[in-house]
Amino acid sequence: STPPNPTNEPVLSYAPGSPERSAIRAELERLRDMTVEIPAYIGGDAVYPGSPSSVRVPHDHQHELGTVHQSGANEVEQAIKAAREAKAEWAAMDWTDRAAIFLRAADLIAGPWRHTLNAATMLGQGKNVYQAEIDAACELIDFLRFNVHYADQIYREQPDNSPGVWNQVQYRPLEGFVLAITPFNFTAIQGNLPTAPALMGNTVLWKPASRSVYSAYFLYQILEEAGMPAGVINMLPADEGADVGTPAMASPEFAGLHFTGSKATFDHLWKTVGENLDTYRTYPTIVGETGGKDFIVAHPSAHPAQTATAIVRGSFEYQGQKCSASSRIYLPESLWPTIKEELAEQIESLQVGPPEDLTNFVNAVIDQRAFDEITGYIDRAKASDDAEILFGGDYDDSTGYFINPTVILATDPHYESMEEEIFGPVTTIYVYDDADYEATLDLIDSTSPYALTGAVFAEDRAAIRTTMDHLEHSAGNFYINDKPTGAVVGQQPFGGARKSGTNDKAGSALNLHRWISPRSIKETF
Ligand code: GLU
Repeated sequence: STPPNPTNEPVLSYAPGSPERSAIRAELERLRDMTVEIPAYIGGDAVYPGSPSSVRVPHDHQHELGTVHQSGANEVEQAIKAAREAKAEWAAMDWTDRAAIFLRAADLIAGPWRHTLNAATMLGQGKNVYQAEIDAACELIDFLRFNVHYADQIYREQPDNSPGVWNQVQYRPLEGFVLAITPFNFTAIQGNLPTAPALMGNTVLWKPASRSVYSAYFLYQILEEAGMPAGVINMLPADEGADVGTPAMASPEFAGLHFTGSKATFDHLWKTVGENLDTYRTYPTIVGETGGKDFIVAHPSAHPAQTATAIVRGSFEYQGQKCSASSRIYLPESLWPTIKEELAEQIESLQVGPPEDLTNFVNAVIDQRAFDEITGYIDRAKASDDAEILFGGDYDDSTGYFINPTVILATDPHYESMEEEIFGPVTTIYVYDDADYEATLDLIDSTSPYALTGAVFAEDRAAIRTTMDHLEHSAGNFYINDKPTGAVVGQQPFGGARKSGTNDKAGSALNLHRWISPRSIKETF
């Protein structure tokens, strides 16, 4: 019988007086007061290569959470061996036994590990408690449970037989190992990229982002406690990603890449695959999600307050460090004065500060490099003739990498902050003439090479249809009267095409299909 569809993990409120509120406070304190030494995990063993570098808190950069050891070619070689040795048994296992491990991991995160993983995400990645909860708890739990549900659908699918002919499709894993390279901004993605291929019978080398290795460390403990056998997922931290990526992708056994990160890195990895092609036994599967320059467009029929709320939440949640964050906003002249007033009020109410104070909405950006890049955009806007700072524009990195939510108004729709991904709490507005709505849609489509998310605000149904037609290829996740962030597993499969990636929707059967290499069998009688 078909098991029931999983349901989305409910989001805890952390409201004053709730048990989870005191629990997260206690856990934040506990983690702050201890230090960890983060190893590489190869074949189930902790190993301590290289001279460790320090892991720090973005909103309190003098505070050290621990140290992390640096993997290189030697560890990659060991990990490939461990992945090879673990593969036969893992692939031959009844798939439901593999699934049971990941379902157990989901239960551990939903239960005893929830506050630890949330607190690690808050401290290591600078998320407020709500952003941590929807990511490290709910979305990660959902990925693990829904992937099992989609795998079940895949494994059940069998071809027809005919008289004297018996057919079967065997859903084999890829021949070789999968390399998972994960981003700092979502603990959920960090968990999904190695576990999705592993669920389908692959063994994995996992290079967590150096900027989020703290939560990756706890995630590994959870998978281990859930019963993941040695060598199935091997964790190889490295500050320089290439120290792991380059030797891993030079291996003849490299069979797949599951990536989320920058377009520049993905371009480089794709070219590396091309250069090494003759080395490989098989054409590798390449699944990647890169960046976005995600838009919100309001039609003159849009609801102004609703549009303003979406701009604020879509642009400033998690300091805009989401590939899905809205960062170019197109507003009609007729609505601009009202929306501007709404924005002023809403932005004024956003509290900026460390996440340990649970009332703060905006925390620090991830590190000094990000801080410098983002504030560069702010400084150039201050000096530009084509743009002005409407709200925010202040920043301070004396204790943490804090940048106030900033809105730039651009008079040139091709001003740099309308075109380039900033990955920070900076959003740019361009005001168009109401009569030019359709021309504005064409402008939106042609302005960016990315096509990840986008949103239209309109009450007029015909305008919504026109918008969807003009922007058919401009966003893999398209939102009508909602902010373009916060896709929910099982509800809005996530991913974009063009230069945003391979559009193999995360949290869908489509993604899992990429991690198998089916064999069709025909027997005649
Ligand atoms: N899935 C996330 C969202 O819908 C974004 C993921 C990303 O930033 O890569 O907001």
